[in-house]
Amino acid sequence: MRHTKIVATLGPKSVSPQMISGLHAVGVSVFRLNCSHLTTAALEENIRNIRKVSPEAGILVDIQGPKLRFLGADISLSTGSVWEVAKHHLGLSQSDESFHMAMNVGERVLFDDGRIQTHIEVVHEDAVQLKVLKGGKLARGKGVNFPDTVMTGSVLSVKDRSDVEVARRMGAEFIAVSFVQQPSDVEEVRALAGEGPKIFAKIERPQALELIEEICAVSDGVMAARGDLGVELPYEQVPSAQRAIALAALKSGTVSICATEMLESMIQSSRPTRAEVSDVTAAVRDGFDAVMLSAETAIGVDPVGAVRAMARICEAAERDVAMPNWFADENPEIAAVTAAAAALAKRINADRILSITNTGYSAGLLAACRPNTAIVAVTPTASAARSLSVCRGVWPLVVNRHDDITTAIQEGLQGARDKNLIGTGQRVVVCVSRLGPNSD
Ligand code: PEP
Repeated sequence: MRHTKIVATLGPKSVSPQMISGLHAVGVSVFRLNCSHLTTAALEENIRNIRKVSPEAGILVDIQGPKLRFLGADISLSTGSVWEVAKHHLGLSQSDESFHMAMNVGERVLFDDGRIQTHIEVVHEDAVQLKVLKGGKLARGKGVNFPDTVMTGSVLSVKDRSDVEVARRMGAEFIAVSFVQQPSDVEEVRALAGEGPKIFAKIERPQALELIEEICAVSDGVMAARGDLGVELPYEQVPSAQRAIALAALKSGTVSICATEMLESMIQSSRPTRAEVSDVTAAVRDGFDAVMLSAETAIGVDPVGAVRAMARICEAAERDVAMPNWFADENPEIAAVTAAAAALAKRINADRILSITNTGYSAGLLAACRPNTAIVAVTPTASAARSLSVCRGVWPLVVNRHDDITTAIQEGLQGARDKNLIGTGQRVVVCVSRLGPNSD
């Protein structure tokens, strides 16, 4: 059984019911809806479709946040020139009124994924003068990054708020918050989203990397969003940043996703490059819960083929990985029971760990201990099962819960057998959370 989960972004090439069910069948556990490319109405329709076609899959709503885009007319910028540009052409008016970027002289402003590099020479009321350090042709709509500039106020635009409301109302399992800088950005979305969705912080700013432990402490998950991270940081620093994100998540028991350009060549090709195979392997060895496909499944030539390739690479990579139990080392009391179950499974060479869980919390604690043994998590609610769909090594299943512990174990084992998740004669370590309707 593959432990590393696959998140696939839906887009024009994959949004049809046939493709959604095909992607789920070849190994997608979570579908990502990228709000940067969706109206709020389309987001709602997509969530409805996924639920209808693949009711067991998790849904991750990725809200755009202050992703800035160049809103001026196409322009050719020559290296060494000075360019005066209106602030609203840098996309700054898109966000909430409270959102503010105190631009300072000397800070960098990057365009088109860092291909065009400038720094601020003069700041006027409504415009800035930029010195072009590396020129090129800049088209309207290309991304704008301010790696040195601190954002203040809300990171959410009016549309982001509507998208969060749809995610909450439609019962999406996960919301990913773009351009998080500090823990309060995550808390702001959690307050809007309510109890239901798990909140993931996208780590794509250097400021977030500096506070990674604090952000992990308030987030249900973190995403190494290597696209923008690789613009805001020199690209050679991305692998160590990725590792730092994975490690902080492992230590705090926060779910983690490695994202962007993982099988980029498969947007056009039927095979990954050797470098991409190594990149996915590195993410598995770093200990991420999940790896993510973006354009490969959204607009690529063969979304199903990309997922198959991802699954093959993860399976091969997992064969020589034994993860230390960082979570239990850092949190010996919280992990006491689940670390003991994981250690027992290893010692007796168990085939499965059966986690009998109500809310999914204790199965999440088990996954955080990173056992080599697959965890079959039985829970009475479909939403708890879907929330576990992103956790490394967890195979969630809906089975009625019984107050009598023997019956609960028997039913759990039977449910797992019926789905071929546990076979006759296999050794199983059972870990039961506290009984009772809302306990775990
Ligand atoms: C990224 O930047 O890596 C990312 C996942 O975010 P987006 O696709 O929204 O740019």
